[in-house]
Amino acid sequence: MIEEYRGVWVFIEQNDGEIEGVSLELLGAGRKLADKLEVALAGVLLGDNVKSLCPEVIAYGADEVYVVDHPVMKDYRTESYMKGIMLLAEKYKPEIFLYGATPNGKDLASAVATDLSTGLTADTTMLDVDLEKRLLEASRPAFGGNIMATILCKKHRPQMATVRPKVMKALERDMNRTGKIIEEEIDLKEEDMRTKVLKIVKDITKKASLADAHVVVAGGKGMGDLQGFQLIHELADTIGASVGGTRDVVEAGWLPHELQVGQTGETITPKIYFAIGISGAIQHVVGMKNSEFIIAINKDPNAPIFDVATYGIVGDAMEIVPKLIEQFKVLRK
Ligand code: FAD
Repeated sequence: MIEEYRGVWVFIEQNDGEIEGVSLELLGAGRKLADKLEVALAGVLLGDNVKSLCPEVIAYGADEVYVVDHPVMKDYRTESYMKGIMLLAEKYKPEIFLYGATPNGKDLASAVATDLSTGLTADTTMLDVDLEKRLLEASRPAFGGNIMATILCKKHRPQMATVRPKVMKALERDMNRTGKIIEEEIDLKEEDMRTKVLKIVKDITKKASLADAHVVVAGGKGMGDLQGFQLIHELADTIGASVGGTRDVVEAGWLPHELQVGQTGETITPKIYFAIGISGAIQHVVGMKNSEFIIAINKDPNAPIFDVATYGIVGDAMEIVPKLIEQFKVLRK
């Protein structure tokens, strides 16, 4: 019975005892949904020795934290984590269950959705609820980003979605918030696991630096060619920023894919985002529109990038960027 399902849950992804940023962002988004539906917001925390993270989950908005703590769950594995989630979801029956669209979050959510025979909206960028029908409205770009599709799961529960990192906003951390911690025992044996974690190799590519950068200088096809694109690198070096680009730039071989911003690249929220020679196609804009300040330079005054820009400069990037570099160098001295 669908009516038996109540409450909004967020999967709290932790790695080495550190909560992933997207889980905190989802607590912020989940809080709004739970308040609208007048139900509790719960964080779901799995791992080994993770109970100490519960106050943090509550500080970021949860009313309750479900914890399954077991040595077999030290490192993420689909099998053990799925067992933990199934145990909780079948017992407590949440109506909405959100996961970060990280590699582990996507893996877990799809496995859980299959076992619970429910629906899952992947890579969501907007969340709301239809209060009357208690339906989660999970929206995401579809048909190559030309439309936003709002996906409903009318007949099954929980309604599940994975949500892109850096799209939702976390609440301010408030250690005065109080909440309930619910611990569940699980019967897991290492010898029953079909996969073993032999070694974890940390990704130390540049990708992390783009995602974490406070200032990003991004260039598009308007930079003309690979040589023209060097101005983007030069400006970034001058102001200590990271470089990003559009898909067209990546396809042209001017940048590696890990520096692509947008729907099929990174979603980033730097303090300052320079969009230079970038038209502002929706597939690019979804990856940078939440930046605090967007400074666009484009020779076409009607370029869509100006619709999301905080400041816009209409003109030739080949003339403007060298002047900016010169001025920033003067200021730096
Ligand atoms: P253009 O659209 O060609 O724009 C170049 C701009 O530069 C123009 O606005 C022009 O006025 C301006 N310009 C030209 N010369 C100058 C000059 N001298 N000075 C100043 N301005 C100048 N794109 C992404 O970026 N990220 C994605 O993740 C992504 N995913 C996609 C997924 C799908 C399924 C599809 C179908 C497309 C995707 N795209 C993505 C591609 C996207 O639709 C656009 O084609 C792309 O973003 C355009 O890149 P651009 O702005 O560099 O080039």
